[in-house]
Amino acid sequence: MKYDVVIGLEVHVQLKTVSKMFCGCGTQAGAEPNTQICPVCLGYPGTLPAINGEAVRLGAIAGMLLDSEIARCSKFDRKSYFYPDVSKNYQITQYPHPICIGGHLDITVGGAARRIGITRIHLEEDVAKSVHHATFSGVDFNRCGVALIELVTEPELRAPAEAVAFLQALRQTLVYAEVGECNLEQGNMRCDANISLRPAGAERLGTKIEIKNLNSFKAVQAALEHEIVRQADLLNAGGVILQETRRWNADAGVTESMRGKENAHDYRYFPDPDLLPVVLSAEQIAEWRATLPERPAARRARLAAEYGLPPYDAEVLAAERPVADFFEAVARRCGNGKAASNWIMTEVLRLLAESGTGIEACALTPEALGDLIALVGRGTINQPTAKALLPELFSRGGDPAALVRARGLGQVGDAHVIAEWVETALADNPGPVADYLAGKQAAAGYLVGQVMKLSRGKADPKQVGALVARGLEARRGGESGSGAAQAPGVVL
Ligand SMILES: [Zn+2]
Repeated sequence: MKYDVVIGLEVHVQLKTVSKMFCGCGTQAGAEPNTQICPVCLGYPGTLPAINGEAVRLGAIAGMLLDSEIARCSKFDRKSYFYPDVSKNYQITQYPHPICIGGHLDITVGGAARRIGITRIHLEEDVAKSVHHATFSGVDFNRCGVALIELVTEPELRAPAEAVAFLQALRQTLVYAEVGECNLEQGNMRCDANISLRPAGAERLGTKIEIKNLNSFKAVQAALEHEIVRQADLLNAGGVILQETRRWNADAGVTESMRGKENAHDYRYFPDPDLLPVVLSAEQIAEWRATLPERPAARRARLAAEYGLPPYDAEVLAAERPVADFFEAVARRCGNGKAASNWIMTEVLRLLAESGTGIEACALTPEALGDLIALVGRGTINQPTAKALLPELFSRGGDPAALVRARGLGQVGDAHVIAEWVETALADNPGPVADYLAGKQAAAGYLVGQVMKLSRGKADPKQVGALVARGLEARRGGESGSGAAQAPGVVL
């Protein structure tokens, strides 16, 4: 039987705040266990939480980026449960009154565009982290109380690849606006997936399975693919899918049952009496809306249109906001968008990958790269000289024009000077010259290289190519003139 796949996602994103959701404790990752804690986030009796205004702003910004309606009034509830990772026996979260309602995110998979609906986004605090050692388990409360948003999608994703595309687009959008770092591997973005199958074309949804522990895009793809096969096999064999929560085991490549519906929690949500509702004025919402950055999709489209870039270039350059900012600054400086794109996409991104630094941290300024490109454009230096200078500008910075002057790297375009180098190179390399005359075209490239070497890389490569070709052909003329093995009348 053929089945339609229905997937919905629940995504937690850690907000980029200096302090926690309801207390002043720090949020730095990697701190010694239980060093960023206080009576409030540990839930001591008699303490009172206070709402972090920056977390509210970031939650609202996330909603605005995804075209959600921002609630003028949202409220916090207590979600009761008894686990070691919640010392006060409830987690503070928004339940019936979230900060953002509705919304959507557009994705493209295999060239096809789709709009995925968002049900809601709410604010909540994170729970502590259980750490399991060989003979004992510990709880690290540093993460307890850290500000999060939870985003729930409509069950509108139809394939594992769409789920991954959604997460990637979400990550890009939230990182652009500095809402969060959104790194699945580091756990500051976490994803649970709900998946069900129904006979192709059927209206009614099948029984859904929730999958947890998806800590990479690869895990999301693999776990969903596995679950589709598992559920289809079960249904084809006449079995019934029982609602349950399963965990992805990446090592074994399978999902494993965690708990069934009979164990489903009754969280007994009720309004937190310690917290006032979050009330946002229309002016406040408008003020935040005015600060929204251009979204990734809009920027891709604008880069392509404004600088005449192919779609692929625009996609690569717009993927990260600092790279896109850098590109635009370079393009403005040198006045050549395509050249700026070529230099960044090949040379600069390679240097960044090799050095493991971000574009903001490297010493290369957009002004310096723009000037370097302009020096090539004006013919002051040739492309190889510019490429040789780049690693130095990248690691140490500097002014390209000053470096070119100080080191005498200016391109030599004087035909007489180049002709002399060509004559020397041809005279010094009789072997390759003979090879060329015997039909080995590649030997010409070697001779061009020898001329560039004689010029210490400064000769205009175009002129060198032309003069080497002319010199070689002159020698061929000499040979045939000597009447050697050449039959008369042969057209070369
Ligand atoms: Zn605290």
